[in-house]
Amino acid sequence: MDKELLLKDVYEAMSSNYKTIILVDCVNENITVYRKNPLLPQEFWDDIAQNPSYDHLIKSYVSYMVIPEDREKMLDTVCLSSLKRILKKQSAFSYDYRIEISGKLQWYRIRITNLSDLNRFAVSFEDITEEIRNESAYFKTGHKILIIDSSKKDREPVISEFSEFYTIIEADTFEEGLISLENNYEDISVIIMDLNMNPETVVGLETIQGEQIKYTGYDFLRRISGVRRYSTIPIISCSANPKIEDTIKALECGATYYVAKPYNVEMLAQTIRSLIRLQRSMALINTAEKDPLTGFYTKDFFYHRAEEILSANPETEYRFVVTDIEKFKLINDLYGIETGDRILRHIATTAARVVPNFIIGGRITGDIFVYMQTKVTQNREDGMKVLNSLLENAPVPNLVLKHGIYYPDPSTRMSVQAMCDRARLACESIKGMYGVHCAVYDDKLRKDMLIQQQVIENMDIAIENDQFEIYLQPKHDMHTDKTGGAEALVRWIHPELGFINPGVFIPIFEQNGFIKKLDLYVFTKVCQTLKRWKDEGKQTIPISVNLSRRDFENENLYKKLSQIVDSYGIEHELIHLELTESALSDNPEQIKSTIKKFHENGFTIELDDFGTGYSSLTMLNSIDLDIIKLDMSIIRNDNPNSDKNILDFCMQLVKILNLQTVAEGAESETQTERLKSLGCDYIQGYFYSKPLPIEQFEQYLLSEKG
Ligand code: C2E
Ligand code: CA
Ligand code: CA
Repeated sequence: MDKELLLKDVYEAMSSNYKTIILVDCVNENITVYRKNPLLPQEFWDDIAQNPSYDHLIKSYVSYMVIPEDREKMLDTVCLSSLKRILKKQSAFSYDYRIEISGKLQWYRIRITNLSDLNRFAVSFEDITEEIRNESAYFKTGHKILIIDSSKKDREPVISEFSEFYTIIEADTFEEGLISLENNYEDISVIIMDLNMNPETVVGLETIQGEQIKYTGYDFLRRISGVRRYSTIPIISCSANPKIEDTIKALECGATYYVAKPYNVEMLAQTIRSLIRLQRSMALINTAEKDPLTGFYTKDFFYHRAEEILSANPETEYRFVVTDIEKFKLINDLYGIETGDRILRHIATTAARVVPNFIIGGRITGDIFVYMQTKVTQNREDGMKVLNSLLENAPVPNLVLKHGIYYPDPSTRMSVQAMCDRARLACESIKGMYGVHCAVYDDKLRKDMLIQQQVIENMDIAIENDQFEIYLQPKHDMHTDKTGGAEALVRWIHPELGFINPGVFIPIFEQNGFIKKLDLYVFTKVCQTLKRWKDEGKQTIPISVNLSRRDFENENLYKKLSQIVDSYGIEHELIHLELTESALSDNPEQIKSTIKKFHENGFTIELDDFGTGYSSLTMLNSIDLDIIKLDMSIIRNDNPNSDKNILDFCMQLVKILNLQTVAEGAESETQTERLKSLGCDYIQGYFYSKPLPIEQFEQYLLSEKG
């Protein structure tokens, strides 16, 4: 492809800041124009077309565009002979000047770039008004130049050139330089230092055995460039008659730039300006280090800083804590985003203040924070105090925080991100758990997490491949001394993982919502079984199905279940629904109305796990229940001789409410006899039978008959 065409494309693609772009051929001094600044009239461009030489262009341009004060200097600087000289030594060069448009002063920059064939260079004219404006705003923010040079005479021209924009701090010695640097490093934009100062002044701050250490300029450079808080400050080092080795050594020791002495003020000015520009872009990057809302580090920068801290102090023991605000989305909806933001700020600032041995903090996402502490030995109580104080004076009352902790294992090198992920897993493992605020990542949690992951990965396939099986556990009717019903309990028989207990997968499914699908599956299987019994002329008994709190998210649950039952032609009375006491307290009003609908549709409602929740008498009274299932723990903890016995109390309560009772988990004859004597209606427990696969359950029923 024609090289010129390619170049043209490149220029066309350049930003609109470039008003004019031309190419200069050094041999015949002719120009080719690629982009024309529309501010210049057509007759200007016509004239250039007539006489397409660089010198003609630049003279006409300067007299058309540039303000009178800047004309002479500009012509001197960018005339062809001067450019040829400059471009022999460096590949690019730029010069800033001012133009006036409708009475307004604008800043422009001419930029000259050597092209690889050396016989041509490109010239662009760029509008930099915005940039200069930002820069002067930046200059006005009290930035400083530190100049360390023992020669007052050498310092003078620098001071006169820059004192308009900067505060100049002068230092005669490295020692003075160090002190000034420490006192001002946050404001210092550039350090200018002479490397070869009078050796007598080259004395450091430190003493070894009473003797002051002497510094050379290179030592000094090495020393300050190694200090993190100074590391973003560019250093221009200089010396008279530098040899190339000096330059290399200075750069190796941490100098950013090297200039020869005596100072060429103009060149120094250009250098300083570009270094400051560089530093400003660094500062922009720095803003991405901090989360503007909370002042904590951003996630990536937190990881980065923590890595640095870990590798700098390999002997120290640390821990990572992830903190999550429970139900933050809801809080945002309830109180508004602004309050949500205030909460986030509150947590971050309070954490930095009250968390002991706090080192750094970061915000991972939304409402999830992470902080790094040196290891704390704290008893539980003190730990709780700290956690509680995080919420003191919070913008909203009753917030709940969850904390997950990870202690790095010194024997395995792991990335900070992986460690924080573990702290986060610990935190997530207690999400939604009432009264549990803190979890430590340990091997048990790791195993649980692995299982959890496997469960989630396998669940859809499990339904498709019929890996879930229904077991039935008899409910023994104490009045007829026969099985009067059964509870359907799900089992997961995985081809590789084997038999998985509902205690393992049900809580996971409740968390991720899959339980809704599973409960429908179980419900359908139960209906199929009842239909088969009916078709085969077998005895049909009511079967109860467990419902999870998540099932009630579907307001039309009663419709859905009725449809399924009807599709198998089964009487609704044969279906009992079990829901737990704790589900009731989640959303009592909605659950009450759904229960009412179930009743209207002929289903029987059993309250599961009674005695483990906090339901009040009024609540129990206001809900349309049929049966109460006493939790196993009540039967286990039964002490017939105590006058404040919970089992007695529960049985009295059930009678007052005029409900039937099922006692769960009776394993011994004594327990069974006692329950019978208290008037319990049904017993469901190992004493009669464990949950059985359906076929075995059918056998069990048959054996009872005979
Ligand atoms: P649950 O509803 O309270 O079920 C009773 C649990 O007690 C069953 O455990 C049963 O096997 C066990 N059990 C019954 N009698 C005895 C006894 O005498 N001694 C002992 N030690 N245990 C007894 P399982 O089958 O492991 O189920 C655990 C829980 O998983 C159930 O507690 C229920 O909350 C949940 N679950 C089981 N299947 C389903 C289902 O299909 N859907 C929903 N949502 N939850 C289910
Ligand atoms: Ca149950
Ligand atoms: Ca139960």
